[in-house]
Order: sequence, then structure tokens, then C-alpha cells
Amino acid sequence: MYKGKTFIISGPSGVGKSTVLKELFQDRDDLYFSVSATTRPPRPGEINGVHYHFTDVDEFRKMISEDAFLEYAEYVGNFYGTPKKFVDEAMEQGKDVVLDIEVQGALQVVHKRPDVVRIFIAPPSWSELERRLTERGTDTEESRGTDSPEKVQKRLVRAKVELQTANTYDYFVINDTVERAVREINAIMLAEHCKPAERMAILSE
Ligand code: ADP
Ligand code: 5GP
Repeated sequence: MYKGKTFIISGPSGVGKSTVLKELFQDRDDLYFSVSATTRPPRPGEINGVHYHFTDVDEFRKMISEDAFLEYAEYVGNFYGTPKKFVDEAMEQGKDVVLDIEVQGALQVVHKRPDVVRIFIAPPSWSELERRLTERGTDTEESRGTDSPEKVQKRLVRAKVELQTANTYDYFVINDTVERAVREINAIMLAEHCKPAERMAILSE
């Protein structure tokens, strides 16, 4: 049976990854979103088990010791990790898997699974990234801006470091409008499924 592919989406915090992925996942039961574990507290509107598995540091360390993660990393003071089990199950079912993970974790996955496809999402400008980081959350009715100015500055510094790694990725998408970013990601996914190795394997079945 056909096994799904894994696609990594990386890019600075606040660039719009969750927003773009929410749109990408509309009416797509052939795609599986890997819900990460994190020690970061939930933002307003985030649901445990949907956006993240929110956990404490002790539980996270226990999962590391049980080898439960495909990859994990520290990001601006919190831990984030991809639970291995669900990713493997989805791929076995023939679903494509999407991981929304930062660049250190993406490198760990590449070393373990070299056939993974990596897509970097960039902002149209630094000032727009700062605006999105500052205003994130103000578009939901129960929240105000969810990161302190210090946290926003830390995330901006980190974003500039992350952008340096973008040319090691397979694809580069600029999230100016959500519609365009989704269209480009769909095109990338489709092109990856048109690679000769996969198509010829179908023909020889
Ligand atoms: P990330 O998941 O990368 O941290 P989010 O999806 O939380 O980022 O988006 C951060 C903020 O930017 C949110 O307020 C979101 O509504 C806004 N946003 C996302 N994409 C766009 C876009 N293309 N144009 C304008 N605002 C956007
Ligand atoms: P945020 O706190 O803004 O939700 O996420 C911060 C960063 O952590 C983002 O760059 C996001 O892609 C990344 N991230 C989310 N889940 C994981 C994960 O499981 N592993 C790694 N390595 N990074 C993650």
C-alpha cells in the first residue's frame, strides 16, 4: 500500500504557519497534522490535544526518556516535540503528514528520514512579522496581544537566525496573503507526488 510523505513547515514564530495550515487542512482528510507536545502555556483560544498537547517539563522529560519523540527542541525557553507514534500510524494509512516545527527539529528529522520535504515560510518583511507577532491574538474576541514586548523581541531575534537556514530547505514560500501561500504549498505537495520514483512504483503494482 502507498505510504504517505512527510512535509515539514518551518518559519519564524508569528509568520502565519498555523493560519496557513488551518486553511490548507480545510476538507483534506488525506492530510494529517502532527500535534506537538509543548511545555509552553496555551495562548487564548488554543485547545489541548488540537493545537498542542500541553504538558509540564517532568512529563516532557519522561517522554524523551521513553524515546517517544521523532524530534524535540527548545525554543525561546520552552520545549516542543513531535510524538513519533501518530506520525508513523498516519503514514502507514497512506496519509501525508505535516509537521509545523522549528529549524533544529527539522534537521533532526532530515537525519532520521532523508526523504522528508522541507518548506520554509517567510514573512513579506520584518516590519510585517513584528506587526503579526505583536497583534497575534487580538483577532480573537477573548484575547489581547498574547506575547509580551520582550518575548516579541526574542522571537524577532530568533527569526533572523532562522532565516539564515532557509536556503537549506527544499522550498521557500512567502506568506504575503494566506491564499497565495496555501496555493503554493498545495503545488509543492502535488509536485512531490509526481516524482518518477513514486509514480513508477504505482505503475508496477
Ligand atoms: P505562527 O503559527 O507562524 O506562529 P500565526 O498563524 O499564529 O503564526 O499568525 C500570527 C498572526 O499573523 C495572527 O494574528 C494571524 O492572523 C496573522 N496572519 C497570518 N497570516 C497572515 C497574512 N497572510 N496576512 C496578514 N496576517 C496574517
Ligand atoms: P509557538 O510557541 O509560536 O506555537 O511555536 C514556536 C515554534 O515552535 C514555532 O517555530 C513552531 O514551528 C515550533 N514547534 C512547534 N511544535 C514543534 C515541535 O514539535 N518540534 C519542534 N522542534 N518545534 C516545534
